[in-house]
Amino acid sequence: MNKELQTLLSRIAGATTLFILALAFREFPIHVQLPFFFGAYLTLAYDVIIKGVERLFKGKILGEHILMTLATLGAFALGEYPEAVAVMFFYQVGEAISAQAASSSRSSIRETLNLKPDVANVLRRGRIYEVNPAEVQIGDILVIRPGERIALDATITKGSSLIDTKPLTGESLPREVGVGDELVSGTINLEGLLHAEVNSLLENSTAQRIIDLIEHSGLYKASTDRLITQFAKYYTPLVVFTAILIGFIMPSVLPGLDFKTWSYRALVFLVVSCPCALLISVPLTYFAGIGGASRAGIIVKGESYLEALSQAKKYIFDKTGTLTKGSFELVGMQRFADLELSDEELGRLVAYVESHSTHPIALSLHKAFEGDFKDLEIEDLKELPGRGVSAIIDGRHIAVGRLSFVKDHIDSYALTSKEVGESELYSSVYVALDGVLAARYDLSDKERQDALPMLEELRDLGIKETLMLSGDKESIVLEMAKKLGIPKAYGGLLPDEKVYRVKEELEVSRAASERLAAVGDGVNDAPMLKISDVGIAMGAFGSKAAIEASDVIIMTNDLMKIPAAVRISKRTRSIAVQNIAGPISVKVAVLILASVGFSSIWAGVFADVGVTFLAVLNASRALAVDGQGYPKPTKDAILELLRRPLPRR
Ligand code: ADP
Ligand code: MG
Repeated sequence: MNKELQTLLSRIAGATTLFILALAFREFPIHVQLPFFFGAYLTLAYDVIIKGVERLFKGKILGEHILMTLATLGAFALGEYPEAVAVMFFYQVGEAISAQAASSSRSSIRETLNLKPDVANVLRRGRIYEVNPAEVQIGDILVIRPGERIALDATITKGSSLIDTKPLTGESLPREVGVGDELVSGTINLEGLLHAEVNSLLENSTAQRIIDLIEHSGLYKASTDRLITQFAKYYTPLVVFTAILIGFIMPSVLPGLDFKTWSYRALVFLVVSCPCALLISVPLTYFAGIGGASRAGIIVKGESYLEALSQAKKYIFDKTGTLTKGSFELVGMQRFADLELSDEELGRLVAYVESHSTHPIALSLHKAFEGDFKDLEIEDLKELPGRGVSAIIDGRHIAVGRLSFVKDHIDSYALTSKEVGESELYSSVYVALDGVLAARYDLSDKERQDALPMLEELRDLGIKETLMLSGDKESIVLEMAKKLGIPKAYGGLLPDEKVYRVKEELEVSRAASERLAAVGDGVNDAPMLKISDVGIAMGAFGSKAAIEASDVIIMTNDLMKIPAAVRISKRTRSIAVQNIAGPISVKVAVLILASVGFSSIWAGVFADVGVTFLAVLNASRALAVDGQGYPKPTKDAILELLRRPLPRR
């Protein structure tokens, strides 16, 4: 328990004692009772009053603190002492509950995610040592027994097994792995004994990065939910004005209205109007929605992104690796210069430069020409994103990429475009070797099987517009767009041109005050993910830059998770709307009753507490991620949610 909470609890205890004493002196004259009531009140209320006055002077919109202060001081003025103390009492008990939740938050996140084991078993000089994962170095060999969680990202050097990736992906199907496969930290080794070479330090490991993402996602900080702030801007002044009208103006101008009765009604009005239920339950709803999404393998980095996702009407997709498989097949080759070099030898050089790039084309060429490069020496390796790669291998200058890029590595470009040849059907990659154009490779990629159903589902969910951007050849891009039913597509774009297009689209949608989402697989997409309203990255095991730039991460490379994320966001939003509309209607009802005298401050207090409780229960529904075998929330999950930090006010 932290200090803050301890102080609050002792204040509540102290005030309760004073309150009981005050009630005990009920039969005594008022100057005996009053110090006890007022003592209890001040013990509970001093920080609320200070905060209220502070905010008022800072010119902030009138908030709940000032509402509470006005209501309770007013009650004192009218001689309603127990009521005044009770209002503050319930308010502070609510604060204590949220403080308790906050203090257990950090550990509970770790527990929930529970991605990091405490020890790693490392093989050194033929013996196995238990080591703190933070001390494991790159290149160390991990020994992972069946049932153990993988501590660091590593490559298997011995053994084979099944891996449970559910903690990261929400997917329950285990993955088969063998020598050479990558192990991702946070997943669980199910069967065999594995040896694996560590390839990143703990702080850069996937598990740690995901924990960081969630912890820094802004969920645990004061909530700045737009819905609420917008609402409070009009609500609080309106409430204060109405209270003044009921309690002061009306009895002053209308004959026959009794001051005391109407001021009392105005106070009931103030107490009831406190938007506690909204302040707690709306952020909690988004929080639960984010929790639900993460159980489905969708990481949302903050509630504003969940909100934006529910509103986005336009989606921009990257082509290669996002809507297509990104595994190109080599379907043709043309040589241009006689370089006294066999196709195989050229292929080997190409594969070697490409082995340092993560672009889908690079991976595919690398695979096509697989080889052993141990005897080759590579220098001056450069990659220009969205253009190509170049290097000097054993003294030979090689460049691989799009024609405009390769041209810069050619001494004199004499070939006509006819001779260079452009296939309409395939993506082309060019090779320059020692200043001459050496070859063209024709590559073919296929659309992903889940692309079409994903786009259909997005349309069903009310997404009005889809768009495809690509650095690939225009003809290929248009053809693919036609196949997928995407009405608008642009090809031949350099990475900065992609950003420019996205900006253009952003302007259009901003003008219509709509939101825009961009989806990329990571390679070269980071800038476009960053500037859009919601950037969605496919596959958490892909590019680190994209994961950092994006707002939503689909942990598995499963396109159907995009409509799933949209559904979750829409459902969360509708629960949030219920949690605004529900309490407000109850309050309006109590207010009407109060203004005609059928209500008391007590009814107001209980309406507030009861409605808050119901709204919190309703918020927990957002944890449930329905359909497609996603886990339903268990009782534990709901309890867990309630233990989470409530937003600090
Ligand atoms: P997309 O937008 O379709 O994902 P990119 O912008 O990543 O495509 O790349 C555009 C083009 O740049 C590719 O079609 C290819 O011609 C060239 N290119 C980029 N990186 C490489 C690379 N590592 N090797 C070869 N060609 C590359
Ligand atoms: Mg791409």
